[in-house]
Amino acid sequence: MADFGGEPTTQTSLPYTDVVKAKTDHLYEKVAAFIPEFEWRLHAPYIAAINDLKKQINAVILAHNYMTPEIFNCVGDFAGDSLQLAKEAAKTDADIIVQAGVHFMAETSKILCPDKTVLIPDMEAGCSLAASLTGADVRLLKQRYPGAPVVTYVNTTADVKAETDICCTSSNAVEVVEHAAREFNSDTVILIPDQYLAKNVAAMTDIKIVTWAGACEVHERFTADDIREIRDGNPGVIVLAHPECPPDVIAEADFAGSTSGMSNYVKVNQPEHVVLITECSMSDNVALENPNVKFVRPCNLCPYMKRITLPKILRSLQTMEHEVIIDAEIIEKARAPIERMMALPLTRQSMYAHERPPEVMAIETRV
Ligand code: SF4
Repeated sequence: MADFGGEPTTQTSLPYTDVVKAKTDHLYEKVAAFIPEFEWRLHAPYIAAINDLKKQINAVILAHNYMTPEIFNCVGDFAGDSLQLAKEAAKTDADIIVQAGVHFMAETSKILCPDKTVLIPDMEAGCSLAASLTGADVRLLKQRYPGAPVVTYVNTTADVKAETDICCTSSNAVEVVEHAAREFNSDTVILIPDQYLAKNVAAMTDIKIVTWAGACEVHERFTADDIREIRDGNPGVIVLAHPECPPDVIAEADFAGSTSGMSNYVKVNQPEHVVLITECSMSDNVALENPNVKFVRPCNLCPYMKRITLPKILRSLQTMEHEVIIDAEIIEKARAPIERMMALPLTRQSMYAHERPPEVMAIETRV
């Protein structure tokens, strides 16, 4: 095992020194609104060590929008939603990629960069959507619906992607489904594994959708009653929701789109008062970029995203653990649907203002 930077560190082992202060003061300015000084003194030594080590070993950190502010703003080299991170992974000339996100995202980076070392700081950083579906399930669905193209959300394992015709993200799902139907000359598309995303897409297209009984355990917890209560308690608030939420939540929102769609909405429209119906850290990160916007903060934490911490990122860089390894044949098969998605000339973000009832043709499960 490669070993960079001496003994792997623990949360309490790094002191806040004058050198650390000098290296990190400019970063604290970015996050001071959300991180009190006593907490910053715990984070700063890790941030300094991570940023030094990254340079020494030519590593980059891809930080998802759901990372906590000290990761997203202070050690992430690229930040964004899973599509943006996949594009950065494909472009980087770094030797090592550390995925500050969850395991399927690290797999996507490995699929796009098979010659690079891709690390995930915690192997338990999974995803309820990715865990809901296997490659064998997809093979069964293809038998049940012959001729229907398989569109899978990027929140899936490499095995599932290897069985896929084209991938999508929440920022392009409507356009990808319509493209797949045209390409396969089919009136039906298999869009898996998120049943709520599938229903929200079905409300935007005439294509018949077959889906899977998967769900994001963070977004499925929001209810339409939650939104009405937020509006009652915060008159005039603008509600932005993620399309992994159930359709009745989307119907109550002023705008529904991917994490980057929500972030852009706030940046462009600068609403006086806003609530993001999504994972908690997203609001913190968008709020830091939009100091004039007031945020209401009812949110749900993703327990998988929150497994990624600064000490684990540092340890990962020091020990090269945990390296993402995928069989070469699976990599080859799984890359095609991701590249097909990335090659599409998509000029707009999918938005989910329901135009039809959010009804799918079937919700399949494992039998
Ligand atoms: S927020 Fe939901 S979709 Fe994203 S990683 Fe967590 S469980 Fe998966």
